[in-house]
Amino acid sequence: MTVPAIPAEIGNLVDGRFAPPASGGWLDKHRPADGTLLCRAARSGADDVAAAVAAARRAQPEWAERTVVSRGDLLREIALLMRERRGEIAEVVAAETGKSPALAIGEADAAIEMGLFVAGEGRRFYGRTTTASMPHRQVSAVRQPLGVAALIISFNTPMPNIAWKVFPALLCGNAAVLKPSEDTPASAHYFATACCEVGLPAGVLNVVHGLGAEAGAALVEHSDVDLVSFTGSAATGRWINEAAGRRLAKVCLELGGKNALVVCDDADLDDAVHWALQSAFSNAGQRCASASRIVVFDAVYEEFRGRFVAGAREFPVDPVISEPSLERVLDAVRRATEQGTSVLCGGERLAEPGWYVAPTVLEGADPAADISRSELFGPVTILYRAQDFEEALAIVNDSPYGLTAAIQTASVHRAMRFAEKVEAGVVVVNGGTHGSEPHMGFGGVKQSGTGWREAGVEALDVYSDWKYVHVVSDPSRV
Ligand code: NAD
Repeated sequence: MTVPAIPAEIGNLVDGRFAPPASGGWLDKHRPADGTLLCRAARSGADDVAAAVAAARRAQPEWAERTVVSRGDLLREIALLMRERRGEIAEVVAAETGKSPALAIGEADAAIEMGLFVAGEGRRFYGRTTTASMPHRQVSAVRQPLGVAALIISFNTPMPNIAWKVFPALLCGNAAVLKPSEDTPASAHYFATACCEVGLPAGVLNVVHGLGAEAGAALVEHSDVDLVSFTGSAATGRWINEAAGRRLAKVCLELGGKNALVVCDDADLDDAVHWALQSAFSNAGQRCASASRIVVFDAVYEEFRGRFVAGAREFPVDPVISEPSLERVLDAVRRATEQGTSVLCGGERLAEPGWYVAPTVLEGADPAADISRSELFGPVTILYRAQDFEEALAIVNDSPYGLTAAIQTASVHRAMRFAEKVEAGVVVVNGGTHGSEPHMGFGGVKQSGTGWREAGVEALDVYSDWKYVHVVSDPSRV
C-alpha cells in the first residue's frame, strides 16, 4: 500500500526548495507494521547542514522584522491547512510508525492544537513592566529572538514533536533547522510541504534528514546555531549539552523517563489496572512518559498482578519503530532474567511480520539493577511491592529520572503528599503517567531534562531571550 503524501525519495528542505543531499546518500525507511520499504530519506552530512544553517541565517532578520501577530497569523494558516488534512496526516503517521488509526489521528490533532495555541500567543506575547529606584524611569521586559534554532527530535510521536518545537521557535522570530528522527522522515516532510504551501518565507524553516551522528552532530556543532532544542535520550542529550556548551550556545533538553505508577491499597482496582495498562503499553511503551515501573501495595499486590497480567496478554500492542529497537528491548529483558528477574508475560517477539514485542510484565527486579534504572522505550514494565506509602514513594524517587509519576488512591491525603514529595515534572492522581496539552508546560527533573518546559507559554522562554528596556523621561521638558 502506498500513501500518496509520502514520496519515494524524501529530500531536504533548504531555502524553500526540496533537494537531494549533497552526498547523494539515502537511508531506507521501513514500515514497522510489516517490515516493507516505505520510502528513502536523505542521508545528509555537514555540507547539507551548513547550507541549511546559512539559509536560516539569511532569512531570520526579515522574519523577525514582522510583527509577532503576523508571524502567529501565518503559523495559524499552517495549522488550519493541517486541520483540513488531518486524515492524510494520520495516514502518514500510521504508515511510518505502525500506530493504530486512533492514535495517529490523535497525534495529528495534538499537533494542530499546538499550532493554534501558539498562533494565539502572537496576540498575547506578554512582557512585563517593573519599577525603578530612579524617578521617571519606565522599565519593561520584552522578548527577543535568539537567531537560528536547531530543532532535533525523537521518532515517538513525530507530528507533535515537530509542532512542539517548530511553532514556538518561529513565533518567537527565530529561523530554524529541523533534524527529524531518521526513523520518521515522512511526517517532517509532510509538515515542511504544508509550510511551503501556505507561503512561509524561504529559509525560515529548513529540514535536514539523516543520522544523528552525522546530520545531528554537524548541526549541534555548527558555530552559527544559537539554540539547540533537543528531544531524545539522556545519552544523546548529555553529548549535545557538552558539545553546544563548549561555545556557550543555549541548550534545551527534553529527555527520557523511568516513570512510576503507584497502586495504593485503597485504589479502585479496575481504574488502576486500566491506567497501568494504558501507561505501560500504549504506543508500544515508546513514550517518554510511559509507566515502566508499577509500585503496588502488598495488600492488593496479588489481586492487581493477576488482573494486570491478564490485561497485558490481551493488550492490542503497536509495533516498535525498528528492528534494532526490537532487538535492544528483548536483549534487555533477556539480561534481566539472567540476573533473577521473572517474566510474568511477554518477553518475546509476536508472530507477526512487523516489529511487535509482546506486552511484557516483569517481577522481582532489584531496584538497583540496570532494568530498574534505564529506560527501555518499549512495551515492558516492572512490578514492585511496597508495604506502605513511604516505601512506595521511596521506590518511585529512587531513579535517575524524574519526568512523570502517577498514584491511584481514594485518599486526598495520600494524593497531596505524593504530589508534594514525588521527584517529577508532572504528577497525576487517579490517571495515567501521561497526559499533557498544548497550554500545559511539560518536562522533568533530574536526568529527564535541564529544567526547561516545552509547550505552554513556558515554551516561549526556550525560544526567546528577555531584553530589559529602560526609558528615562523628564517631566520638566514637557
Ligand atoms: P535518540 O537520542 O536516539 O535520538 C533523538 C534524535 O537525536 C534523533 O533525531 C537522532 O537522529 C538525533 N541524534 C542522535 N545522536 C545525535 C548526536 N550525536 N547529535 C545530534 N543528534 C543526534 O532518541 P530516540 O530513540 O529517537 O527517542 C527516544 C528518547 O526520546 C527516549 O529517551 C524518550 O524518553 C525521549 N523523549 C523525551 C520526550 C520529552 O519530552 N522529555 C519526548 C519524547 C521522547
